[in-house]
Amino acid sequence: MPVTAPVLGTSFADALPELATPWRAEEAPAPELVVLNEPVALELGLDPEALRGPEGLGLLTGVEPPPGARPVAQAYAGHQFGGFSPRLGDGRALLLGELTGPDGRVRDLHLKGSGRTPYARGGDGRALLGPMLREHVVSEALHALGVPTTRSLAVVATGRTVQRETPGRGAVLARVAASHLRVGSFQYARLLDSEGDGSGDGSGSGSGSGSVLRRLADHAIARHHPQAAADPAPYRALYRAVVHAQARLVARWMDVGFVHGVMNTDNTTISGETIDYGPCAFLDGYDPATVFSSIDTQGRYSFGNQPGILQWNLARLAEAMLPLLADDEQEAIAVATELLGEFTGAYAAARAEGMRAKLSLPAGLDDDATAELVDGLLVLLGAERVDWTTTFRALGAAARGDREPVRALVLDRPALDAWLERWLATSPDGDAMDRVNPVYVPRNHLVDEALVAAEAGDFGPLDSLMEVLRSPFVVQEGRERYAEPAPATFTEGFRTF
Ligand code: AMP
Ligand code: MG
Ligand code: MG
Repeated sequence: MPVTAPVLGTSFADALPELATPWRAEEAPAPELVVLNEPVALELGLDPEALRGPEGLGLLTGVEPPPGARPVAQAYAGHQFGGFSPRLGDGRALLLGELTGPDGRVRDLHLKGSGRTPYARGGDGRALLGPMLREHVVSEALHALGVPTTRSLAVVATGRTVQRETPGRGAVLARVAASHLRVGSFQYARLLDSEGDGSGDGSGSGSGSGSVLRRLADHAIARHHPQAAADPAPYRALYRAVVHAQARLVARWMDVGFVHGVMNTDNTTISGETIDYGPCAFLDGYDPATVFSSIDTQGRYSFGNQPGILQWNLARLAEAMLPLLADDEQEAIAVATELLGEFTGAYAAARAEGMRAKLSLPAGLDDDATAELVDGLLVLLGAERVDWTTTFRALGAAARGDREPVRALVLDRPALDAWLERWLATSPDGDAMDRVNPVYVPRNHLVDEALVAAEAGDFGPLDSLMEVLRSPFVVQEGRERYAEPAPATFTEGFRTF
């Protein structure tokens, strides 16, 4: 039976009080449930009907947390666009607590837009309805595509007007994650340790409760990578597990054409889930230099840079974890370098596996032949910025004997035909391709249209879009326009942020 008043665990706040500031959400003058994600509610063992009622709204806005809950704002540091900020933290968010679902999994229930916290700096602590719905749409779409991500449980309009360039409706997003531990959490813990005793060796002699970094690592192991506990060197095993989980994650982003947009170290999880949907977007035309965020003027977080940036973020994690990797600093650096070095191979393997599936390449095809086919296709697509998502469904048709859909997408027919000959000689299975290549992704123009309507009070377009995105691999009758690339007039210079 789904519960009406959930029990919210406090294991993070208990284990890491230095990273958990007890805090309360601000009042919501006129809360109104805008979206409830019933499948997620049921997965968590929550009763959707109760969530719709007054107690549910109290939970989903954080205004009335259930008895025993101890909401906290989490502290973390972070490299933002390469520059280090020692003290970021949840400026407009709260960890309500941990939920244990009927499946036994422990997940964080977290709010975004719940009011100022001690980490708010100049911010108002609030969020606009549009961006919270955007996170709802894009995170749920990634989930349906099989990409690890935080989930959106609900969006509640607060009834408050939020002042930005133009005033808009305020909202709180309730999201669920394996946890909210980030690379930036480790960076912050390391700083606390070095401030505590000045040695930075993690022994934390200045505090009665020992090294924060060590406690954080123990918590992360228990929560995300329990197999590391049995390793003779558990912290090395933890670091290695994060490197591999993140390598797999970024490879999945590259498969589906996802641009995260703000891969700061505070937005890189320890669990290997995608987190923090700000200026993110999906590619239309394939171009590694694609950027959607107006503040990313240097293209640091462009589509093609994502694997390299991830590795850079993992280097920052290694630096933070050094005292845990070996007692001797030189040895710790050597260990970190070696483990970080595994990223390259892990990412290449995950990427090759993804592209092999997308193109239905035979398992026996050697790496060089695989790379030659994949790179050959990427050169063709990149030269003309051919639509990424459409291409792979059209190639599925070509594998079944109809080359016209893909020939209609590419101007350089001789080059395409030559590539098709080489690829078709490997006997790809078009039906298998259709099971991994989506028809529908949350294209910017569709998301935009749905959010504009929703902000004006019409939720029809949002509902239709969500329905399409929940089954991204299946052609849905009468939904052709959701599969089409954006009109050129829309794509030109489009910015999410
Ligand atoms: P993000 O770019 O979303 O990862 O956020 C970076 C930092 O800015 C985090 O510490 C956020 O909590 C904080 N932040 C973003 N928007 C606001 C806001 N409106 N009020 C307070 N803090 C904010
Ligand atoms: Mg963030
Ligand atoms: Mg954000």
